[in-house]
Amino acid sequence: MNKTLYRLLCCPYCKNELLHKRGSFVCGPCGKKFPIQQGIPNFSLTIEEKGMRLSQRKWNEKYEKDAKKDVVKEIKSLDKKFFQPTWEQITKYKKLKPGRLFLEIGCGTFYLGRHLALDGQTVIGIDMSIEALKLARLVFEKEKIPNYLLVCGNVLNMPFKHNSFDLLYGAGVIEHFRDTLVSVKELQRVLKKGGVAYNTVPYLNLGSLTYRQVWGNIPRLPVLEDLFAFFHTRMLRAKHMRFGYELSFSQSYLKKIHKRAGFSQTNTGQFNCQLDFDYLKNKTLRRLAIHLATHSRLFWPMIYVAATK
Ligand SMILES: [Zn+2]
Repeated sequence: MNKTLYRLLCCPYCKNELLHKRGSFVCGPCGKKFPIQQGIPNFSLTIEEKGMRLSQRKWNEKYEKDAKKDVVKEIKSLDKKFFQPTWEQITKYKKLKPGRLFLEIGCGTFYLGRHLALDGQTVIGIDMSIEALKLARLVFEKEKIPNYLLVCGNVLNMPFKHNSFDLLYGAGVIEHFRDTLVSVKELQRVLKKGGVAYNTVPYLNLGSLTYRQVWGNIPRLPVLEDLFAFFHTRMLRAKHMRFGYELSFSQSYLKKIHKRAGFSQTNTGQFNCQLDFDYLKNKTLRRLAIHLATHSRLFWPMIYVAATK
């Protein structure tokens, strides 16, 4: 962990400078104290909403189980499968020059950050799950990678100063917040002028209205949004909401919301996410699913939104 990167941190509540003393950070003006746990500054005090606490607990349980596996091997296989195609798509909108700062929101075990840091970049990851970050740190330490900072906290209320990052990435994160505008505004706040926020989200299309219902997706559309939310949270008591609360978006909505959050330019389009549909046992069906998800806009699972501050 590169402690000089502590300079990026501030109080998540009042955004004032923090004092670093005896294994924790303290905010003078509001008197809040944030512990440093196994080397990871922990601001998860800011996760207060019931739904968010629930998904935080679920993610921690998942990563506690993952800790029993060979983490380095797992991360290397994620790297091999996803790094190249993902990074190619992101860097169409922003090249990361040496010395610039990369932030991943909802970074999990941070395979992407590990790859970039090995290439000499400086990477910062934030996640609500301390267990995920402990695994990420384990890998960084094992491989003696120095130029990184991991922070446990709330993406809606980040402990980072204004205008800090050059490139920000979120893989399937912002669809999990009820108020999309609040989350996008927070991303805009921590980016430098000219910085880019690149996020991938579920696409609102025939796919999200049909088969994505198996995991309880809610389309962000007038009237329908309330209906689907009522159906999933009240009638089915969230039985199918596999990833917790999750929205899908149209491209025009994403452009509108990023503009309202203060971004100067926004691009959207298909995100190529290397789906293999392993869970479909029938070969013909699997081929058809891959074909539709790749070639038919009615079934694209994910889209990207790349917005410049
Ligand atoms: Zn404060």
